[in-house]
Amino acid sequence: ALTVCARAMRDNGQFAGSVLAYSDVTEMVNALNAREDFVSSVSHELRTPLTSIIGYLDLVLDDEDTSDLPARLLNALQVAQRNAERLLLLVSDLLTTASGTMHLQRSETDVAELVRIALDSATPRATPIGVALGCDCEEDLHALVDPDRISQVLDNLLSNAIKYSPDGGKVTVRSRREGANLVLEVEDTGIGMSEADQQDVFTKFFRTGQVKKAAIPGVGLGLVITKSIVEAHGGRISFSSAIGVGSTFRVELPVSAP
Ligand code: ADP
Repeated sequence: ALTVCARAMRDNGQFAGSVLAYSDVTEMVNALNAREDFVSSVSHELRTPLTSIIGYLDLVLDDEDTSDLPARLLNALQVAQRNAERLLLLVSDLLTTASGTMHLQRSETDVAELVRIALDSATPRATPIGVALGCDCEEDLHALVDPDRISQVLDNLLSNAIKYSPDGGKVTVRSRREGANLVLEVEDTGIGMSEADQQDVFTKFFRTGQVKKAAIPGVGLGLVITKSIVEAHGGRISFSSAIGVGSTFRVELPVSAP
């Protein structure tokens, strides 16, 4: 049950009476729990077969010599591998947003290490399209955060910076400590966003007309998730951007849990 109580006072400060509102929220709580159960079982049901498909494709394409495969078959398997990976990401994104809850598993983490790992794993995506990755990063950035979630934030911001720089350019990551916060910045010299579009980037499924026209793949959930992870940590996300100049996303995270 949810009970709300309001006291009414006269102008002279005397107590005039009170209003008590009582509401039974059992059904609402049950519905929310059912939604969480549903989301986590769908998540499991979708992920298990997909992970298995990806595992078999990886086995053929990554671990073995592929020179004995006919070119057409190799190409088809590579397309299937890429799309299965995209589907797995999409499933994770959809379920993270649908569940509406963000459970953090905080531990003492060296965020500088997470930045290095994120840069390493972004390199194979940046190099082929002529994007240079740079880092202006402090060492030893310890904070009480969920390392998987913060890696997800870094991956999302880096992969946007790269994919929205279709004509090449430079992506720079900056990380430093500022007082009680860690500051992470990802700057690109890519296509940027108009002022009107900037209002909506944290809205579910929003994508600018420009990226849809250029057929740059995406779903419009990455920044929604990124923002909810940052805010669950008690942090803030902001950005500045200009068409044809580029964008800079900035994340501030408290070093210790709020
Ligand atoms: P997605 O990249 O899957 O479309 P996001 O939620 O990450 O979804 O981003 C939403 C939209 O914001 C993108 O479709 C794009 O239009 C715009 N956007 C995000 N990051 C950048 C960036 N670094 N440069 C230009 N546009 C961006």
